[in-house]
Amino acid sequence: MKHLLVLGGGTAGTMAVNKLRPRLPRDDWQITVVDRSDTHYYQPGYLFIPFGIYRPDEVTKPRKRFIPTGVDLVTAEIDRVEADANKVVLSDGTELPYDYLIIASGTTPRADQTDGMSGAEWRRSIHEFYTFEGATALAEKLRTWEGGRLVVHITEMPIKCPVAPLEFTFLADAFFTEQGLRDKVEMTYVTPLPGAFTKPVASKYLGAMLDERKVALESDFMVEHVDPETKTLVSFDEREIPFDLLVTIPLNMGADFVARSGLGDELNYVPVDKETLLSTAHDNIFAIGDASNIPASKAGSVAHFSMDLFPDNFINHIAGRHMNEKFDGHANCFIETGHGKGLLIDFNYETEPLPGKYPLPGIGPFSLLKETEMNHWGKVMFRWMYWNLLLPGKELPLPALMSMAGKDTGDLS
Ligand SMILES: Cc1cc2nc3c(=O)[nH]c(=O)nc-3n(C[C@H](O)[C@H](O)[C@H](O)COP(=O)(O)OP(=O)(O)OC[C@H]3O[C@@H](n4cnc5c(N)ncnc54)[C@H](O)[C@@H]3O)c2cc1C
Repeated sequence: MKHLLVLGGGTAGTMAVNKLRPRLPRDDWQITVVDRSDTHYYQPGYLFIPFGIYRPDEVTKPRKRFIPTGVDLVTAEIDRVEADANKVVLSDGTELPYDYLIIASGTTPRADQTDGMSGAEWRRSIHEFYTFEGATALAEKLRTWEGGRLVVHITEMPIKCPVAPLEFTFLADAFFTEQGLRDKVEMTYVTPLPGAFTKPVASKYLGAMLDERKVALESDFMVEHVDPETKTLVSFDEREIPFDLLVTIPLNMGADFVARSGLGDELNYVPVDKETLLSTAHDNIFAIGDASNIPASKAGSVAHFSMDLFPDNFINHIAGRHMNEKFDGHANCFIETGHGKGLLIDFNYETEPLPGKYPLPGIGPFSLLKETEMNHWGKVMFRWMYWNLLLPGKELPLPALMSMAGKDTGDLS
C-alpha cells in the first residue's frame, strides 16, 4: 500500500484529493489530508464581511463535507516534515509516513513581522480583513466608525489575492457614500509597488479608478514600523502617514513548519518547478496553491487552473514517466468595484492583464479591465461555484491555460 499525504485541506489540497482519489486505485493507495481546523473558510468572502454584505456564517462550512469518501481527514497541527525519512510529525508527536507528499498549507498574514503592528492598537485602530477573525472585527469597527483618515496598506508583496486591497478600497468608498459619510473620510492607498497594481496596464486602469474616487495613492512605500502611539505608518525612507483607521495587509508568509523542515525560501514558500509544481529539492514532494514559490498570483483561481493539469502530471510521475503538462501561471480575478459593478483580469506568467472579453472572444459575457454589472455577478456567482464545483473537483468549461483569444492587444495607451 502506498501513502499520499496532503498537508492542508484548503482550496488547493481539497481540489487535489477530489481529483486524485478516483485516479489512484484504492487497493494500492491510501490518501490522508491533515488540517488544523475542521472548518473550511471561503476566503474571498472575507472581503464582503466588513461591509455587512456577507455574514460570517456565510463563508464557512464543515471541512469534512468536501473531503471525498476514501480519503482520511486528520484534524491536527503539523509540526514538521522529515523529508529524508519520508515522514511528517504532528505537534502531538504522531508520525505519518508517506511515499508522496503534497504541501498545500497556503500563506498567512503575519502582523507580528512588522514592528508596532500587532501591539496595543491591534483590532482597535489597526485592522485587517485577511482572516475570518480580522474581517469580523473590522465589520464591528465600521458599524460605528464616524470617519477620519482611513489608510489601506500593503506591507510587502507577494500577498494572496493581490487585488483584494483595491477591492476593499473601492467597496469602502461605496460604503461610506451610501452611509452619507464619504465627505468625512479621507482615504489613502499605501503600497510598496510603484503604482496601484503589479502589472503596468492594469495598474494604469486601477490607478485611474482610485483617482476618480478621490483616493490618494502613496506608492513605493516600504513600511519600517507602525507607531501605535501617534498612529502613524513610517517607511524606511522616513515618510510618515498618519491614520485614524489603518486597514493593513500584513506580510504574507508560508507556514512555519515549512521553515522548520528546511523546505522553504525566506518567506517559507516551497521552491518548485513552476510548470509541474514538483519540489526542486525532493522528487516525492509537490507544493500546490499558495504554499509554493511560483511567480503567479497567490489566488484560488491559480490553484484551480493548476489543479486541472496537476493530476496527469502526478500520475505520470509516480509511474516514472515524464510530466507532460506545463502550467503557465494562469490567473483570473474578479475585482469588485462597488455600486454593483466589477472588473475582470486574466493573465499568466508571461502576459499581463489586457482589455477584451472573456471567456468567449467578442461575446464575453465578461469584460476584461472594464467595469460592468456582469462582472459583479460573476464575482457573486463565484461563491456558489467554489462550494459546488471547484472544491469537489468538477470540470468547468474554462481552459486551464490562458488564451489570447478575446484579448485586445491594440491601443493600450
Ligand atoms: C480577503 C481575501 C480575498 C480573496 N479573494 C480571492 C478571489 O476573489 N479570487 C481568488 O482566486 N482568490 C482569492 N483569494 C485567495 C484564495 O483564497 C487563496 O489563494 C486560496 O485559498 C489558496 O488556497 P491554498 O489551498 O493554497 O491555501 P488555503 O486555502 O489557505 O489552505 C491552507 C490550509 O492549510 C492549513 N494549514 C496551514 N498550516 C498548517 C499547520 N501547521 N497545521 C495544520 N494545518 C495547516 C490551513 O488551516 C488551511 O486550511 C482571497 C484571499 C483573501 C484572504
